Amino acid sequence: MKIGEVYRKLTEDDFRLLRFFVDNLKRFEYIPVEYIAQRVRWLNPKELDARLRKLHKLKVLERHPTMNAYRLKMLGLDCYALKVLADRNIVKAIGDIVGVGKESDIYRALDAQDRMVVVKFFRIGRTSFRHATKVRDYGMAFERGTWLVRSIVAGRREREALKILNSFNVPNVPKLIGGVLHAVVMEYFEGVELYEVRSLERPEEVLRAVLDTVRYAYWKAKIIHGDLSEYNILVTSDERPIVIDWPQYLTTVDPMAEQTLRRDVLYVVRFFRKRFDVNMDPEEALKYVLSPIE
Ligand code: ADP
Ligand code: MN
Repeated sequence: MKIGEVYRKLTEDDFRLLRFFVDNLKRFEYIPVEYIAQRVRWLNPKELDARLRKLHKLKVLERHPTMNAYRLKMLGLDCYALKVLADRNIVKAIGDIVGVGKESDIYRALDAQDRMVVVKFFRIGRTSFRHATKVRDYGMAFERGTWLVRSIVAGRREREALKILNSFNVPNVPKLIGGVLHAVVMEYFEGVELYEVRSLERPEEVLRAVLDTVRYAYWKAKIIHGDLSEYNILVTSDERPIVIDWPQYLTTVDPMAEQTLRRDVLYVVRFFRKRFDVNMDPEEALKYVLSPIE
């Protein structure tokens, strides 16, 4: 079932109960029903039990295989975040999935003004967790337990980065619209990832625009992307590059700042040379980025 479908099956009381799970994410993985019953006074034990079973059926919660305890699933966190976004008038409707990244799922959505936006739900640890089931079995429970928490941290990090970038008008990055927990709501761009682009009319200008984003981020916002690559640049039909995916950003005072900036710049310059035959010296590009603005 899609997020939107599950979301619409949830009532105010369901969300209130989900909120209890979200508030206790850091304390528990599975929460014993007995403990929930003690704290959730607005539901009698029978109602509580019925509601928990409903949420388990919808795959929003998961029941422990042997104990009478439940844990929040990623879908539950998604639905709860959507509810908060709807209550705050940030998102009005959620649509289809438009991108599956390394560490996130991206949905198209409508904001309160009917603008097309995207909601990025972080899924930190998804791939490594899948991998872990094959490679090693123990340590898994722990990884799994911190999965949601780490996704929330990543969401906050990306919102912070976009907020700073936007406040300094750094060009060619999405505008942050809002967000909560592991969800980031931002401007939608119709574009393709750079790694899928086979040819460009003006590759030098596109590269220059990317370098300008890096330069303005560095000098104005004082942050460094940290994972710049052909996978984190969208190209619009009028050949405008948009630099996305900022949760791993560093500040310019970070001990790793210089090294990271260098890696970002050299990497992207090399990609433009290999793919589009752009003849720019990587060290010159780095010098350009490091030249102060104004
Ligand atoms: P991840 O951390 O999972 O790599 P990204 O931020 O790179 O997440 O996003 C994954 C994919 O989702 C992108 O490659 C792109 O296709 C799509 N996407 C991300 N942000 C936007 C956006 N603002 N507008 C349109 N598509 C986007
Ligand atoms: Mn990415």
